[in-house]
Amino acid sequence: MENIAVIGAGTMGNGIAHVFAQNGFKVNLIDISQTSLEKGMATISKNLDRLLEKERITATDKSDTLNNISAHTELSEGIRGMDLVVEAATENVDLKLDIFEQLDRHCSANTILATNTSSISITQIAAATQRPEKVIGMHFMNPVPIMQLVEIIRGYSTSDETTAAVMQLSVALGKTPTEVNDYPGFVANRILMPMINEAIETLFHGVAGVREIDTVMKLGMAHPMGPLQLADFIGLDVCLSILNVMSDGFKSPKYAPCPLLVNMVRAGKLGVKTGEGFYDYSESRKAEHVAAQFV
Ligand code: NAD
Repeated sequence: MENIAVIGAGTMGNGIAHVFAQNGFKVNLIDISQTSLEKGMATISKNLDRLLEKERITATDKSDTLNNISAHTELSEGIRGMDLVVEAATENVDLKLDIFEQLDRHCSANTILATNTSSISITQIAAATQRPEKVIGMHFMNPVPIMQLVEIIRGYSTSDETTAAVMQLSVALGKTPTEVNDYPGFVANRILMPMINEAIETLFHGVAGVREIDTVMKLGMAHPMGPLQLADFIGLDVCLSILNVMSDGFKSPKYAPCPLLVNMVRAGKLGVKTGEGFYDYSESRKAEHVAAQFV
């Protein structure tokens, strides 16, 4: 495989494009929004600068990586001649079904179609295509250039060949792929989200405050970040949507989102991206927040 298209230049998409390009693949980065594309390319350049400062790459590596990426706003143009498409657009079922239906129509029969979805059924996405055996979950973790894991999710009809190709490719990116089956939350979020939800329940029931809960989990369990702070980084809307998918998928109250999480999302307190979640990320509180991370 040489040519990779990445759909979506947001948080995940630009990280995925960065990692492929840095490992010598030719990448077409596609987004419907020109602004997102520009922001995505700027983020890649900034992250490469950081690696350059730490002497982990050379100036030539940086320019080669950037030269390996071309930006597109037209899907049909960006996916032409690709060996693999990794979709990392907004987490919305209808949007993803529509994208995969278009990919199936425009990509050659050999192209593997992967999705970076956090929670949507791979089997359902694959059913929007005529090639379900070539559809697979490639769940990178945030921040993509740093995190080691790629959760490889096999849909009901995903073939052994597709799985082997994507596992091999992930190794070529320097990552550790881990194969799992397609059930709600897969493995990563099935375990992580109930923990985050329980931390929110603990706060909701007044057992302890935000900082106390995070301190217990950081210092007591050696987690690099407390669950409430992690929820702020992931986005509380994203956490809620994943819990809802698991709650619907398993028909179990075990995954029912805490009412406090529901209320915070309704109030638009989504975490880092809106400047407030369990912590305050406004400019005036930034120093305090950074200090809190070292508790
Ligand atoms: P984001 O909101 O940062 O970026 C999404 C991008 O998709 C935006 O730039 C948007 O303009 C673009 N987009 C929307 N519709 C499009 C279309 N039709 N064609 C092309 N581009 C389109 O979202 P994100 O956090 O990068 O999440 C992307 C995917 O990755 C989601 O499926 C999410 O569940 C998954 N994911 C997110 C995380 C995380 O921590 N944020 C972690 C793992 C997986």
